[in-house]
Amino acid sequence: MTARVALVTGGTGGIGSAICKKLADMGHKVATNYRNEEKTQAWLQQMRDQGYDITAVKGDVSSPEEAEALVREVESKLGPVDILVNNAGITRDTTFHRMTSQHWNEVINTNLNSVFNMTRPVIEGMRERKWGRVIQISSINGQKGQYGQANYAAAKAGMHGFTISLAQENAKFGITVNTVSPGYIGTDMVMAVPEEVRNKIVAQIPTGRLGSPEEIAYAVSFFIPDEASWITGANLSANGGQYMGW
Ligand code: NDP
Repeated sequence: MTARVALVTGGTGGIGSAICKKLADMGHKVATNYRNEEKTQAWLQQMRDQGYDITAVKGDVSSPEEAEALVREVESKLGPVDILVNNAGITRDTTFHRMTSQHWNEVINTNLNSVFNMTRPVIEGMRERKWGRVIQISSINGQKGQYGQANYAAAKAGMHGFTISLAQENAKFGITVNTVSPGYIGTDMVMAVPEEVRNKIVAQIPTGRLGSPEEIAYAVSFFIPDEASWITGANLSANGGQYMGW
């Protein structure tokens, strides 16, 4: 497989780390962004200990200026970005009647506006080079909705509209645009949920367990090879059978 430059946002997180490692295992040069210097230095050391050489550049994906600057820095260090995985995300859960505009805006800015901020600076280069992969990490809760997550579900559902429009605009340029919708994965985001609530979630998953970050990384990797060139505008559910809508 041709070695490409891949940029994974939120690579220092649970799912992001697994995606970075999977793409590196496929032979690609991998970069991610970070916000916290100390946390990232420790993460980079962990990666090196496991034999991974990941490039980390500073930048907040919810800011258009920082997102563009971080893309340019990755380009100057590794070369043009061929694979973009829009993975960074946050939750600010609360029922809508208690939700503040801050809860709403933080989630929309980080989870949805970031997709514009990150994809806009890479798309023209992909079109010129006639090859690209843009992959959104959405969520099962963007498909089925979730009590206490009107902000998060709105952002994650919005990613699908983005994916299917961008896929149409760029299909003739060798660029595929797809979404992976993970179910509940045992990362910090989910382990922060109280145990009794987590047990109730697991009870609704036909496989009887939470997913692993590696299982989401595998779903992402599926869209990347040239053999996957015919697959664009798709949404791949990876949720242990918890939601089977199509
Ligand atoms: P984590 O909280 O482990 O990781 C999130 C990552 O995103 C961190 O690296 C974080 O960096 C980064 N990030 C957050 N906000 C910003 C920002 N404004 N700018 C730059 N980076 C940012 O989450 P997960 O690995 O669990 O989740 C990854 C993605 O998968 C998210 O989009 C999430 O919504 C989605 N998802 C997760 C599920 C799960 O069960 N875990 C289920 C379905 C979807 P920092 O350390 O600086 O905060």
